[in-house]
Amino acid sequence: MIIGIETTAHTFGVGVVSKGKVLANVKDMYKPTSGGIIPNMGANHHRMVAQQIWDDALSKAGCCDKDIEAIAVSNAPGLAPCLIAGLEFAKRQATRLGVSLVPVNHCIAHLEIGQSVGATDPVLLYASGANTQIIAYASGRYRVFGETLDNGIGNFIDTFGRYVGIPFPGGPVLEGKAKNGSFIELPYSIKGMDVSFSGMLTKMKQLYYKGAKVEDLAYSMQEHAFAMLVESAERALAHTGKKELVLGGGVACNSRLQEMCRIMCEARGAKMFCPAREFLTDNGAMIAYTGEILFNAGVSKKPEDVDFDARERTDMVEVIWK
Ligand code: AMP
Ligand code: MG
Repeated sequence: MIIGIETTAHTFGVGVVSKGKVLANVKDMYKPTSGGIIPNMGANHHRMVAQQIWDDALSKAGCCDKDIEAIAVSNAPGLAPCLIAGLEFAKRQATRLGVSLVPVNHCIAHLEIGQSVGATDPVLLYASGANTQIIAYASGRYRVFGETLDNGIGNFIDTFGRYVGIPFPGGPVLEGKAKNGSFIELPYSIKGMDVSFSGMLTKMKQLYYKGAKVEDLAYSMQEHAFAMLVESAERALAHTGKKELVLGGGVACNSRLQEMCRIMCEARGAKMFCPAREFLTDNGAMIAYTGEILFNAGVSKKPEDVDFDARERTDMVEVIWK
């Protein structure tokens, strides 16, 4: 069995995977009572819950120490204090058990778990809190075809949520409010295949200040921001000639985004894939799942040889397992 530890940002998670099957996926999320994520507070949270989450995941999976072949850990990219807290814990466990560590890039884990639901060579729309990228595999790497030039879409949505009094994470609450909203035109910003959200955020704050309803703003924000992502994803499909779209990241939980992607895919004869909700937001199972693929491809490190990299990009990782 491979254990996976997710620790890049707000979530500390432990997953257990054996032969591509997820046996447990336990997590706990640091939720600030006001304002955004404070990295050191996130790290404190991870240190506090780590052992409990580990114990719960192993007991759910019916797994004992001797079943563990290796420990995968999301060592990049993310918030440095959170990465350090999780890596320390992973190293301690690996040393105690005498097993190796498998470093996993967090973004690539979102992509790999996305492909576990049936796609073979997809374009990936990765829409999460801090990351927003349109990615496809080409010549040995996951290449970034389009990405946000400023905020990740989830952080953009959550920032607006906080502005109107909705605590983190605002995305799911705003999705509910959007159901009763009507359309207001907002800045639509797509440059080539890159997107940007800061202009839309400023405009939404101004409109709210002038009395616009949160419901209308939430609805219009989704219509504009998601259309930008779908436009870029469609261009990546057209450019690469690929016929599959996979969704990943927490914002992909949004049913309107899923619906827009489905409509686009149907219109151009492509297939859409979306993993279950528990695998869309940050989780340990996707780290374990990817870790197992890497481990089988020969990635296996001594604990002392693994470091974190807060800024490692998706296209910096050489994909030796495909
Ligand atoms: P991740 O960083 O991948 O764990 O995803 C967390 C982000 O997903 C947060 O910014 C949430 O607000 C966002 N999110 C979760 N569910 C939804 C939803 N239904 N609609 C929009 N955003 C969502
Ligand atoms: Mg994520």
